[in-house]
Amino acid sequence: MLNPAEFASQPAPGRDCGACTLCCKVFDVPVLDKPAGQWCKHCRPGRGCGIHETRPDHCRAFHCLWMTQDWLGPEWKPDRAKMVLTVDPETKFLLVQVDPGNAGAWRQEPYRTQLRQWAASWLKLKRHVVVFVNKSATVVLPDRDVALGTIGPRDRIVARERATATGIAIEVEKVSVAA
Ligand code: SF4
Ligand code: SF4
Repeated sequence: MLNPAEFASQPAPGRDCGACTLCCKVFDVPVLDKPAGQWCKHCRPGRGCGIHETRPDHCRAFHCLWMTQDWLGPEWKPDRAKMVLTVDPETKFLLVQVDPGNAGAWRQEPYRTQLRQWAASWLKLKRHVVVFVNKSATVVLPDRDVALGTIGPRDRIVARERATATGIAIEVEKVSVAA
């Protein structure tokens, strides 16, 4: 079973970003005041970071799952998939940050089927697969997607199991927590 507790945090042997620079577009970088979904002003798309030697620690420490997990195939390389996989350090949810220039990429095959399979696997660990396009979230469940809209710093994704006549149903919602 896909288990985030067993994930390495350093690049796997032989893995290299190559021409990929997608993380420099899809994520926000607070220390640079860079919003999610826009290229960092220091990025040379397809070539790398223009301030590599002095890039922020935030960037220096980042490795996407394709870099650290050598079982992810070439189709998951972010510049090919148009999405970047990570695991949230707090919730251990699998996060899929999609290039807003290809916002429907995750609905294409083979990605959609693989995300549903991972959703089924991680559900057993009470963890979820969440697709983001900028700050807009969709939870992928084994049988359906649940769009939650924009997730802010005080929002949490909460899932509950509900007994039904046909078995256990999963309900997902966005909950705002107090400051
Ligand atoms: S998304 Fe992953 S492979 Fe692409 S540049 Fe960032 S760390 Fe490297
Ligand atoms: S500073 Fe460099 S590594 Fe960091 S987001 Fe910008 S281009 Fe990417």
